[in-house]
Amino acid sequence: MNRLLLASVLAMLTAGPAFAADRMPVVASFSILGDMVSRVGGDRVSVTTLVGPDSDAHVYEPTPDDVKAVAGAKLLIVNGLGFEGWMDRLAEASGYAGPVTVASQGVAPHEMAEEEDHHDHAEADHAEHDHHGVDPHAWQDVANAVIYIKNIAAGLNAADPEGKATYDANAAAYVAELEALDAEVRTAMAALPADRRKIITSHDAFDYFGAAYGLELLAPEGISTESEATAADVADIIRQIREDAVPAIFVENIKDRRLIDQIAAETNAVVGGELYTDALSAKDGPAPTYVDMIRHNIGTLTEALASKR
Ligand code: ZN
Repeated sequence: MNRLLLASVLAMLTAGPAFAADRMPVVASFSILGDMVSRVGGDRVSVTTLVGPDSDAHVYEPTPDDVKAVAGAKLLIVNGLGFEGWMDRLAEASGYAGPVTVASQGVAPHEMAEEEDHHDHAEADHAEHDHHGVDPHAWQDVANAVIYIKNIAAGLNAADPEGKATYDANAAAYVAELEALDAEVRTAMAALPADRRKIITSHDAFDYFGAAYGLELLAPEGISTESEATAADVADIIRQIREDAVPAIFVENIKDRRLIDQIAAETNAVVGGELYTDALSAKDGPAPTYVDMIRHNIGTLTEALASKR
């Protein structure tokens, strides 16, 4: 090895945070948080996300790799609000004794609607996934995401004080981007006529979004998130759409195309596309980051609500 090459290798080895081995290992509980932590941490952190894209954090089963990741972490970042019922046991199994940042700390929590014990909680896990009536999906209000970013920055600063200038600068830039995004969502929703800001959805993760941006959310009558809708359920939904003059419907657990077509044929409601609620998409999907997810959802919502059939 010539001296120049050796010098450059040595320089690379001592270059600091650009190298994975020198980065602070941080574990984030799910994909949306993982993206936020990566934005604030930049190249000073190495982020491991436990519940990845397109996966449901409500019913997650931690793996041996997760135990290892948490055991090696310098900081653990969770949503809180009862979202990660499996986290305490995972932290214990890992012997983790480090700091835990609760990203939602300081948001005004919403109550879960009574019948919205949503997602397919396995019976055996029910006690651990108990939401205690609190709705965990606070990130769907972009103003809450700003609170998340401030909490994440504070957690990183405490765990790695030397990185404070980096974390504060990254957080400030990201917060500015989120404030612009919040304004963008408000503008898009405000452009819709007031009587069309209403959807039926089986996603019960939009309460914070609806409250923040003026969207009325109606639960589909006679249909649970745990089983496939029947033709009779669909007849109920059709009646509800007519009675409440609902412009659009997002019901992901009606997978039977004939039933969807029946709803479309017998009502004026638009059957909307896929909304992202609890997880990002894969990198090549429509919602690989938090900002992309909000933009995708607002585009999908306003497209359905603005179109008259
Ligand atoms: Zn959820």
